[in-house]
Amino acid sequence: MQSLLDDIYREVLPLMGQGKVADYIPALACVPPDQFGIAICDNNGRTCSVGDAATPFSIQSISKVFNLVLAMNHYGEGLWQRVGCEPSGLPFNSLVQLEYENGIPRNPFINAGALAISDMNQSRFASPHLAIRDFIRRVSGNPDISANHEVADSEYEHRARNAASAYLMKAFNNFENEVEDVLYSYFYNCALEMTCVDLAKASNFLANRGYCEFSDERILSSAQTSQVNALLATSGMYNEAGSFAFQVGLPGKSGVGGGIIAVVPGRFSICVFSPALNTMGNSTQGVAALTSLTRRINWSVY
Ligand code: GLU
Repeated sequence: MQSLLDDIYREVLPLMGQGKVADYIPALACVPPDQFGIAICDNNGRTCSVGDAATPFSIQSISKVFNLVLAMNHYGEGLWQRVGCEPSGLPFNSLVQLEYENGIPRNPFINAGALAISDMNQSRFASPHLAIRDFIRRVSGNPDISANHEVADSEYEHRARNAASAYLMKAFNNFENEVEDVLYSYFYNCALEMTCVDLAKASNFLANRGYCEFSDERILSSAQTSQVNALLATSGMYNEAGSFAFQVGLPGKSGVGGGIIAVVPGRFSICVFSPALNTMGNSTQGVAALTSLTRRINWSVY
């Protein structure tokens, strides 16, 4: 594994800095673009890594996966009454489809879907932002994970579009709590900072039929794990899910902080990080590294 990672790192290093760091909030715009790390965690909990794999970064939309898993734990199949499981084919923060489809978001990985799921978690936990943080601490085995408050505050300040999605859902009776409270939890979770090693470990239960080696507990049933992986494969990579499936062939979720988690079911989980993004909002080096990985191990879930 280590020599595999070293080879991928060497192959993809020349792409360093190609693309553009997310600049929709000032706190993310100042992240240095020339960083690149990869970590793998196998299903026995062993990790290996290369490059900037120990550098914490803003997990952003990757938090939507943990938000969903926690809600699935509690709401089971009932959750799918409020959120769909189809790819959206539109930008992650689009409002157009939400109105046409009566306030039911297409899937849990577009912003409206993640906000509906956050609303469900808000109804269930006294401090939902801390419940998700603590869940992530547990499944990654790292009790020190915390949020960057400057990023969370900056997102809150620029919340208009997310607030609009949430209020639109409220107008369709698909939102129970105060919009501002749910937005606070959602932004706090997007602003959590983790390393590639943390995220490879935290997502390992998705490669391991729902079982987490680090907390020694079953997080999801095997059937629910397959559902999450299917959603990741169809909706986890913004509007690049099709070509990501075509090139990489793994369930994955990216965030505008430059991280991507990916799952090789039955074998291992991976996290790559490099903040410069392609035009679809996915890490340029991250996608290239995962393409190289699956080519080298000759593996695709398809
Ligand atoms: N916190 C971001 C937002 O809601 C998530 C961005 C992302 O990584 O997709 O706009």
